[in-house]
Amino acid sequence: MTNDLRFPARSYDFTPYVQCNNWIGGEWTPSAAGDTLSVDNPRHGKSFGQVTMSGAADVARAVEAARAAFPGWRDTPIKERVQVLFRLKALLERDLEELAWLVSHENGKVIGEARADVLKGIECLEYGISLQNMVAGEQLDVSRGINCSITYEPLGVCAGIVPFNFPIMVPLWMLPQALVSGNTFILKPSEVVPYGAMKLAELLREAGLPAGVFNTVNGGQPAVEAIADHPDIKAVGFVGSTRVARAVYSRSAAAGKRALCLGGAKNHLLVVPDADLELTSTTVVASAYGCAGQRCMAASLMIAVGEVDPIIDAIVAHAKKLRLGEDMGPVIHGGAVERINNYIADAERRGAKVLLDGRGAKGPGGVGHWVGPTILDHVKPDMPAGCEEIFGPVLSIVRARTVDEAIAIENASTYGNAASIFTQSGAVARYCIERFEAGMCGVNIGVPVPREPFSFGGWNQSLFGAGDLTGWDGLRFWTRARKLTTRWQLSKDATWMS
Ligand code: NAD
Repeated sequence: MTNDLRFPARSYDFTPYVQCNNWIGGEWTPSAAGDTLSVDNPRHGKSFGQVTMSGAADVARAVEAARAAFPGWRDTPIKERVQVLFRLKALLERDLEELAWLVSHENGKVIGEARADVLKGIECLEYGISLQNMVAGEQLDVSRGINCSITYEPLGVCAGIVPFNFPIMVPLWMLPQALVSGNTFILKPSEVVPYGAMKLAELLREAGLPAGVFNTVNGGQPAVEAIADHPDIKAVGFVGSTRVARAVYSRSAAAGKRALCLGGAKNHLLVVPDADLELTSTTVVASAYGCAGQRCMAASLMIAVGEVDPIIDAIVAHAKKLRLGEDMGPVIHGGAVERINNYIADAERRGAKVLLDGRGAKGPGGVGHWVGPTILDHVKPDMPAGCEEIFGPVLSIVRARTVDEAIAIENASTYGNAASIFTQSGAVARYCIERFEAGMCGVNIGVPVPREPFSFGGWNQSLFGAGDLTGWDGLRFWTRARKLTTRWQLSKDATWMS
C-alpha cells in the first residue's frame, strides 16, 4: 500500500493500489476511527486501493487546520494568491495524461471522456483565476463629499461536496473561486472516486499553496453531515443528486451557513418529424451514451412527436455500433447495474418495447460493471423515465401525437429540468420554447432557426440556494460584500444625512 500517486498509469492493464487518506494541514492523515472502504475500478471490478472514511472528529481536525491557515492566506495579496493557481494550471497541463488515466481508472470513463473532464476542469480554473479582475469592488458617491466603497472579503473556512461523475472538473467548479477570494477550503470528494482530489492536493502543494489552505476529508454521509453542522465552516457548495442536495441545503442552512446546492439536472429531448435524421440520431446517441449516461446533462427521455420512426431506427443503428470499453465505459458500480436493470425490467412490464437491450452486456475480459446502450420505446409518461435516479445508458422514448401533447408531458414531468428541441422549423422551436416551464431550452439543428442559440441540452440545474458556484455568482457566493465609508471630504459643503 502506498500514498504515492505518481503511477505510470497509461493503460488499463496497470492496477495501482493506493491508500487514500485525508489531506489535512499538509499531511496525509488516516481517519480517527480508522475505517476504510475499497475503491474498485468499474472497468474490471478490481480494487484500486482503500479510501479512509471520516466522521465528525476528522472534519473538526480539517477545520482546525483551515482556520489556522486562514489569516495568512487572507492577508496574502490576491495577485500572489492567483499565482499559485496559475502554477496549478501549468501542473494540470503537465500531468494531463496521467490525470486522464487516473479518472478513467477510478470512474470508468473512456480515455477521451476522462481527458475532457480534466480539460474542462482547467477551463474552470482559468475562470477562477480571472476573478482577480472582478474582485476590485465598487464605489459610489452617496452624498456630496461622502464616498462609499464596497469590497469583497473572504468568508473564512469554506467546504465543497462533490459527486462521482466528474472527479476533476466539479471540484474545480468551486475551489479556484473560493481560494482566489482568500478563503481556506475543505473538499469532500465522492468516496467512490477519491483519487482525483488526492492528486489535486498533491499538485496544489507542488504549486506552492501553504499547508492548511486546501484540505480533503474523505467519506460519506457522516462526513457530509459533520461539514453541514460545523459552526466554523461558513459556506458549503454541493453538487450531486437532488435528494442529497436538498438534505445538505436544509442542514447547512439550519446551522446558519450559506449553502448553494446543485442537484439533478436532466436533459429531455423533443423530436418532431422534420428533424434532420443524421444530425438528430448522432447527437442523441452522443448525449445518451457519453460517459455511460452518467452525466447530469445526459439525454435520458425523448418525447417523439408523430411519425419519427425513421429517426428512432437511425438512433438504434448508431447506438448498436458503440463498442463497450472503446466508445463507452462501464457504470460506476454493481449497485448501479442492478438499479438500471430493474428500471428496464419495470418499463418492460409496463408495456415498453425494448429496442436495444443493454442488460447482461460484457465489457473487455467479461468483467466489471457494464450495462450496454439501451433504448426503450413506448415508455409510459408516468414512469420515472429520464429521472436522475436511473443515471445510466438508457434512453426512454415516450410517444406523443402532437407538439402540444409533448409539451404537456414534459411540463408534467417531475424530472425534466432541461429540454432540447429537434426541428428545422423556427416557428415550432419558438412555440415550444415559449411553452416549456423547464427554464432553459436548447434548439438543435439550427436550419432555419433564426436567433435561437444552437445548443445541445441547455439545462436548468435544480438548485437549492441561488446562483452558480463559478464566475460572478461564484465570487459573490464565496465572499461577503463589505460596505465601507472610506472617503469623507470634510469640506464645508459635505452633506450629512443624519
Ligand atoms: P450523490 O448525491 O449520491 O453524492 C454526492 C455527494 O454527497 C458525495 O460526495 C456523497 O458522498 C455524498 N452523499 C451521498 N449520500 C449522502 C447522504 N445521504 N447524506 C449526505 N451526503 C451524501 O450523487 P452521485 O451519485 O455521486 O452523483 C450523481 C448525481 O449528481 C446525479 O443525480 C447527477 O444528476 C448529479 N449531478 C448534478 C450536477 C449538476 O450540475 N446539477 C452535476 C453533476 C452531477
